[in-house]
Parts: sequence; structure tokens; C-alpha cells
Amino acid sequence: MGDLAHAVSQPVVVAPSIVVRDLTAAYGRAVALRGISFTCAPGSVTAIIGPSGCGKSTLLRCMNRLHESTAGATMDGQLHIGGEDIHDDHINPIALRRRVGMMFQRPTPFPTLSIFDNVAAGVRAAGRPSDTVQSIVERALQRAGLWAEVRDQLHGSALALSGGQQQRLCMARALAVEPSVLLLDEPTTSLDPVGTQRIEELLYELRGSMTVVLVTHNMQQAARVADSTVFLLNGALVEQAPSRLLFTTPSDPRTEAYVTGRFG
Ligand code: ADP
Repeated sequence: MGDLAHAVSQPVVVAPSIVVRDLTAAYGRAVALRGISFTCAPGSVTAIIGPSGCGKSTLLRCMNRLHESTAGATMDGQLHIGGEDIHDDHINPIALRRRVGMMFQRPTPFPTLSIFDNVAAGVRAAGRPSDTVQSIVERALQRAGLWAEVRDQLHGSALALSGGQQQRLCMARALAVEPSVLLLDEPTTSLDPVGTQRIEELLYELRGSMTVVLVTHNMQQAARVADSTVFLLNGALVEQAPSRLLFTTPSDPRTEAYVTGRFG
């Protein structure tokens, strides 16, 4: 990492716990989550698994209050991050989303911005002093494992990068504003094995410094990177357990049927 990056003090981020209690979410009359409760330990990686349509994305979107921006969507129950109810009146959803970063299945770089500006945009919007932006961008690209590949083309188009590089660029963009929580919705589905491995290594490295919630279709991935795994079925939580237990000795027969590939 460059000396400049070391010289800039970053805000001290303390990874928070996430506590979900009796969370229900619906789109109009269609219920997507049915009173689910679970906890993510501070600095842990929690995987959310389950068949398509079981409510995984809805759950992530509740965690940064994106769900409420869908017309007709409703939510009930409690969601505390770092002990704070994220639906309290004084919480500004935009400020919340700086603390609770999100990455999607397909890379979503800003198409008209350069590699540098893709990462810098959020940093500037967060009001960081302009003389620190360069070093924050460099550090974020370093953390996302992309710096060495793009350092000579920082002002080139983000769209010239490969899919895996674009996804790491989105990771750098998310990391640049120093979130304490990172939500990932199937972040490696569109990547090749090398790109997937890079993201998995990064998640491993982020453990401890932020609390990560990872939606994945890939059970091997959940077993590799997640401390704890939550299994959802038809909007209900069937089981949460340390990943090594959930994939080897699940306590619910439905979990066993799913992880052994009998449905899904
Ligand atoms: P998963 O991520 O596990 O595939 P989702 O959270 O996307 O599941 O979806 C849960 C349920 O909510 C599904 O029945 C889905 O059809 C429904 N759903 C998701 N998004 C919307 C939406 N914008 N409007 C209406 N129903 C939706």
C-alpha cells in the first residue's frame, strides 16, 4: 500500500451486531418473510441460503431499508444494528446506507464514470475533505484487491474492466465509505472461478473489521466463508447454526434435505 494511503487517518469502524426479531415483510398482500429472528455476531460473516423465492433478497433489502422504497412493500418487527433500531424516527435511510453497504449479483459500476470516480463518488458525497479522496480511493482499491490491476488506468472507463474486476470495483466503492456492515446479494453468481475466489478471499479478510451478510445459492461458498448460516424456506427461518454444523449435522430434516440437494 502507498505511503499516502497510510498517512490518512480513517474513521475507526467498530463492527456491530445485527439482531433481527420477528421480522415480517410483504409486497402488498404477498408475504415474503414470516416473523424471522436471528442474530449476526459483530465482525462475523453470516450466509443466508434457501431456494429461489424464499425471501433472501427481501431480508437483505430490509437491512438497509431499501425494502420500504418498493411501492406497496410493508415491514413489521425489529431490526437492530449495533444496538440501534434502524427504523427509529431519527435514522436517515441515506446515512444508514453509508454504514450498511450493499453489493448486488451483477456488477453495477456507474457507466459514465472512470475507475477512479466510481470509487471517489461516494467518498465525495460523504463529505470527506477533497485532499483525502485520492488516498481513500487508493486504499479502497487495495483492500478490494484491484489496485495492482488498475493503477495505470485509473481515469479509464470502468466498463473496460472484466466482470470480475467490475465486481471488485463495486466492492472498492462500497468499502471506500468505511461501512460497518456489508450486505452481499449473490456477489459471485456472474463471475468466473478466479473472480469468485478473489471475492471469497476478500470476505475472509474483512471478517472482524465489519459484519457481513452474504446471500448465496452456492452452499460450498457458504461453508467456506461464513461463520454462521441461516436457512430460509418459504419466508420462514428453519435453522441458524455455525456453518460447519449446519452443513454436516443440521438439526432440522428440511435443512438436511436442502443441503444434501434433495430439493432447491
Ligand atoms: P429470494 O431472494 O430468496 O429469491 P426474494 O426475496 O427475491 O427471494 O422474493 C421473496 C418473495 O417475494 C417471492 O415470492 C417473490 O416473488 C416476491 N417478491 C420479490 N420482490 C417483489 C416485488 N418487487 N414485488 C412483488 N413481489 C416480490
